[in-house]
Amino acid sequence: MRKTIKTINPFNNNFIANYQCLNGVEISDAISISQITFTHWKNTNVKERVDFIKTLGFVLTKQQHLLAKTCVLEMGKPLKQALAEVQKCGILCDFYAENAEDFLAPETIKSDAAESYVTYEPLGAILGVMPWNFPYWQVFRFAVPSILAGNTVLVKHASNVAGCAQLLEDIFLEAGFPKGVYQNLLIASDQVEEVINNPIIKAVSLTGSEKAGAAVASTAAKQIKKAVLELGGSNAFIVCKDANVEDAVSVAVTARMQNTGQSCIAAKRFLVHDSVFDVFLDKFKAKVEALKSGDPMLETTDIGPLARIDLAEDVEKQVNKSIEMGAKIVTGGNREGAFYSPTVLINVTTDMPVFKEEVFGPAVPVMPFSSFEEAVQLSNQSEFGLGVTVFSKDVENIKSKVHLFEEGAVFINAMVKSDPALPFGGVKRSGYGRELAENGIKEFVNVKTIYIK
Ligand code: NDP
Repeated sequence: MRKTIKTINPFNNNFIANYQCLNGVEISDAISISQITFTHWKNTNVKERVDFIKTLGFVLTKQQHLLAKTCVLEMGKPLKQALAEVQKCGILCDFYAENAEDFLAPETIKSDAAESYVTYEPLGAILGVMPWNFPYWQVFRFAVPSILAGNTVLVKHASNVAGCAQLLEDIFLEAGFPKGVYQNLLIASDQVEEVINNPIIKAVSLTGSEKAGAAVASTAAKQIKKAVLELGGSNAFIVCKDANVEDAVSVAVTARMQNTGQSCIAAKRFLVHDSVFDVFLDKFKAKVEALKSGDPMLETTDIGPLARIDLAEDVEKQVNKSIEMGAKIVTGGNREGAFYSPTVLINVTTDMPVFKEEVFGPAVPVMPFSSFEEAVQLSNQSEFGLGVTVFSKDVENIKSKVHLFEEGAVFINAMVKSDPALPFGGVKRSGYGRELAENGIKEFVNVKTIYIK
């Protein structure tokens, strides 16, 4: 029996479409196509691959409105943010088109040999298991560098964005990529294990929850296959006593509320020095209350529904449990269907869900601290380690303290964001491996050592 995936518009609960999942034979056919294509794709040179990526960038621009609207319908991202996401994929294509040849060039290494160097060779067919929160960006940052390195990819996308998933394959084909370089694998999550177990699949990259990451990485480990995991985060956003509070507040709103709070690198715990706490809270509350919730298809909307009702219910539970434990609502705290109102909490302690769990929606605790050491300690008091923001006018001082943070990234006077030029990834339960930049393109390669006597 074939499994069926049903997509629902989280804004109005309307049915969008049914999709039939691939059966076992179709899955192994797709994997075989990936392997056959790999045998010639790996022999193309990087310049040729770059030409395909440039064309992909053009197609992306041409189709940007269709892509953005499908994302709005399927996961409720406000339209202007959906368009910005598609455009960011274009920036990633440009970045790698410009740098891939340099990144993948052989490197001479001094040793006791007459000559020694390394080359970077592709591994083969790589599986991507991708989430719905940035349905294009997450896939692009996995697929584009992997393909440029000479691999072929198969993507199992999140079920609730099955339409976005199909459009992704369509644009790769429209850009002229040989069939099999990029394939959309329309399967349910319980079919992922059989894909990883297929000997043709050489590695897997997953972005999503810890639960999904642990399942996928365990299967890969049993087969001695590499995994890259980009999981959750609960980034702190630290406002020091010498911070420009006005700037900090503006950035804080975007850092927490962008994508209706559904981002792994969102600022999820605000830590504010005692001396500026009240002024920060007043200004932050005012800006949060000014955000416009509503139909995500409207250009004026800042906050849409969460991507699924169950995700809004999760946020509601985390907030309500924290209130039972003594937290106080400054604003928000209401759920209506998949909508959860932008919410600010105070009187939060470190044992409450809104502090110790990842909150994947527009709710945030604001907590005071009295010394920088205390802020560092609170920031590190998390199972996750994706990134941290520190606002302070004394940049040199913060630079000297960067090593204190157990994080994959420290952003000073800016929100944590992913940028094609900078490595992206975490430590602790946020996962392992890196995406983007030179590090990202080298995750799925064979670093081959050549030694000549
Ligand atoms: P999941 O981790 O369940 O989904 C992410 C991807 O993994 C989807 O493609 C999903 O497929 C797949 N998947 C889920 N379980 C398995 C499994 N056992 N084996 C193989 N693949 C699997 O995320 P949710 O949608 O359930 O979101 C839950 C929470 O995860 C969020 O609240 C947030 O905390 C975190 N999350 C983090 C993201 C990030 O950017 N780091 C992105 C999304 C979620 P399918 O959709 O078919 O289940």
